[in-house]
Amino acid sequence: MDALMDVIVVGAGMAGVTYARTVHDAGWQVLLLDKSRGFGGRMATRRSGENAWDHGAQYFTATHPDFHTLVTDWVDDGLAAIWQGRIAVWDGETLGDAGPMIRYVGVPGMTAVCKAMAAPLPHHLHTTVTALLPEGEGWRVLAEHGEWRARRVVLAMPPAQAAALLPPGHDLLRHAANADMLPAWTLLLSFAAPLPLPFSGLFINREPLAWLADNASKPGRPAGLDWVLHASPTWSAAHLDLPHETVAELLEQALLKLCAQLAPGQPVPERLSIAAHRWRYARPAQAAQDAFRESGDGLALIGDWLLGGRVEGAFLSGLALARRHCGIPVALTEVF
Ligand SMILES: Cc1cc2nc3c(=O)[nH]c(=O)nc-3n(C[C@H](O)[C@H](O)[C@H](O)COP(=O)(O)OP(=O)(O)OC[C@H]3O[C@@H](n4cnc5c(N)ncnc54)[C@H](O)[C@@H]3O)c2cc1C
Repeated sequence: MDALMDVIVVGAGMAGVTYARTVHDAGWQVLLLDKSRGFGGRMATRRSGENAWDHGAQYFTATHPDFHTLVTDWVDDGLAAIWQGRIAVWDGETLGDAGPMIRYVGVPGMTAVCKAMAAPLPHHLHTTVTALLPEGEGWRVLAEHGEWRARRVVLAMPPAQAAALLPPGHDLLRHAANADMLPAWTLLLSFAAPLPLPFSGLFINREPLAWLADNASKPGRPAGLDWVLHASPTWSAAHLDLPHETVAELLEQALLKLCAQLAPGQPVPERLSIAAHRWRYARPAQAAQDAFRESGDGLALIGDWLLGGRVEGAFLSGLALARRHCGIPVALTEVF
């Protein structure tokens, strides 16, 4: 009979890794599972030769003292750095500066911090969990290529994905089923020469676009001329099921139009590569709720969707549940 672990964490994004590392450091026997080939979830970086694109989270902020302390350690260890580039805002007519704030990025990519936190943890990647079965004093976790047993199971993923794993009629289903996530189409581009744009990142308040970033302007990235474009949630939802190639074409047209508005008369350099990526569950549609949801039978839900939809929210959600499980007082000041 396989051993009964203290807890199995499904999802190795910021929330799951934070929870797993905290209870592991407190002496719990933990196993971390994720269907992807790496750690980080939506803190994602895609690489191709000398090119790299952070196509999920663009940067993170650190407002809560616990997160700020950890981020400061990451910076000291070279796992994160401050993104110093100019961040601008475009409303279709005026180009202004975004409010001043310290924006951090993982180094050399967004995945770096989750990867480092998860390093000592027993884990299986490429492991899609398919079902949770109540068994004895805990749960049996079934995956495509394995099964394990634990007293507790923590689902650290977007609510629709958690709902798909919860047993029919389970208490937590109403929380997971009532939470909506907005999608995001993103475009990963590289060019033969610099784009004639006077910023490193741009918030765009003009459909169909929401964000544009010069990836190489972030610290520790390859010197490639790589840009990331995000479509707005509204446009992404309306075009969710289009083929990737069609979305790439439409968003590239929108980018060319934006360049013509921001740098009139200046030619856009030759585009060397283009790829679209769809995030079906990018950001929560609702405001922050409780940091986690837990039932009396050992199942719990954590994730950014419970605390406002950002990297810091994911961290605080995982930390809050871990502290509760380890008997450490939970002190989440109101930052959301
Ligand atoms: C396009 C985009 C831009 C963003 N920009 C920012 C930003 O600039 N700043 C910011 O702070 N935040 C940003 N975010 C949000 C940020 O990425 C998230 O808040 C945070 O990364 C969520 O972490 P998480 O651990 O809650 O979930 P996730 O990172 O989604 O982790 C969930 C994990 O669960 C795994 N999983 C799901 N189902 C299963 C299963 N059945 N079996 C095994 N594994 C499973 C997934 O593979 C994934 O690794 C952005 C997100 C997107 C998509």
